[in-house]
Amino acid sequence: MHKHHNTLGLASTVSTAVEIAKLRPVQPVTLVRPHAASRAARFFVEKFPGRSLYAVKANPSPELLQILWDSGITHYDVASIAEVRLVSRTLPQATLCFMHPVKAEEAIHDAYFNYGCRTFSLDSLEELDKILRATEHATDLTLCVRLRVSSEHSKLSLASKFGCAPHEAKELLFATRQAADALGICFHVGSQAMTPEAYANALERVRAAIVDAAVTVDVIDVGGGFPSTYPGMEPPPLEHYFETIHRAFESLPVSYSSELWAEPGRALCAEYSSLVVRVERRRGDELYINDGAYGALFDAAHIGWRFPVQLLREPDSRARDVEFSFYGPTCDDMDHMAGPFMLPADTQAGDYIEIGMLGAYGCAMRTAFNGFGSDETVIMDDEPMASLYVGDDREVASNVVTL
Ligand SMILES: *Cc1c(COP(=O)(O)O)cnc(C)c1O
Repeated sequence: MHKHHNTLGLASTVSTAVEIAKLRPVQPVTLVRPHAASRAARFFVEKFPGRSLYAVKANPSPELLQILWDSGITHYDVASIAEVRLVSRTLPQATLCFMHPVKAEEAIHDAYFNYGCRTFSLDSLEELDKILRATEHATDLTLCVRLRVSSEHSKLSLASKFGCAPHEAKELLFATRQAADALGICFHVGSQAMTPEAYANALERVRAAIVDAAVTVDVIDVGGGFPSTYPGMEPPPLEHYFETIHRAFESLPVSYSSELWAEPGRALCAEYSSLVVRVERRRGDELYINDGAYGALFDAAHIGWRFPVQLLREPDSRARDVEFSFYGPTCDDMDHMAGPFMLPADTQAGDYIEIGMLGAYGCAMRTAFNGFGSDETVIMDDEPMASLYVGDDREVASNVVTL
């Protein structure tokens, strides 16, 4: 299926990024690949040894939410009342889990009474009190205590802001157990965890906390952090993560009926979109392109994330690849992406480039600062620039309903 959702208006069907470039779009164009998101979701639904909640912040596009739902993702990790409303409006049957440990009391009240949300996370006694007040001491809550764990194996730390420290866990678990219908323990190992050991180590923390508090635990939620693949950040197969988590979960002192959850964000949507940009100017090895730090390239600018790139030119350039950095379109020095991005040495103004793997924390973070940015979107059915879900025998069996 090739469909245009945009104002390019030059063709009704396209099948490759090179064909998009031939239309010479003035604005950056987002390419979305529903089949890639669907494949990732089916992989988690079939192979993760528990329940997968999609972490909505990674990419809240309603089209993506629908694709994930159609592919078997029934639970959604939301962090704000706007995300609660968005998911509820888009997927009225979805189960919402409010997994931000520091919430507005009004948001908790609204989520509980108006959107059927019964699962909340917390990392302090104050938040527990807040949840109980906001829900008028509801007795049907699943409350997940977030533990602080190490981010040492991840590219993006989440170790300082949230999570209760080991010495606080006992009291908090005990108090939460008194209040909750179901007690959970959750954590986040940091985003783009490069080894399954990250989860094994975190689950050892969980074990210690359970033993110390001597409480019955009904849910173990290993959070997000499942990687995607980027230049210089190629992780082991996701099955290794799943096996490690399963083994560690099975050995925890939890009740026989306890559930295992995960909250993948990046791994479900990174392959969903890419971006076609135009080179407006070349200055040495610096390319001035028409999207940047205030567009879909926040992570490329601010934490030096490297995304795969390819020159969209026909016939292909025969020049060897060299290192480039990018400047975005705004009048701000910080609108700079160091890369390095490997492109043919003869790349020049007027060329188009596809920047891949922007489905997670890329398109979700766009602003219209300085008047740049665009919503032009084209649905593609070709392969993303990289994938964790193809090759070997990793493709999910075809007896699953596809879009
Ligand atoms: C951001 C976030 C996630 C998703 O993390 P990824 O690294 O994208 O998988 C999951 N859970 C919580 C609580 C988060 O804040």
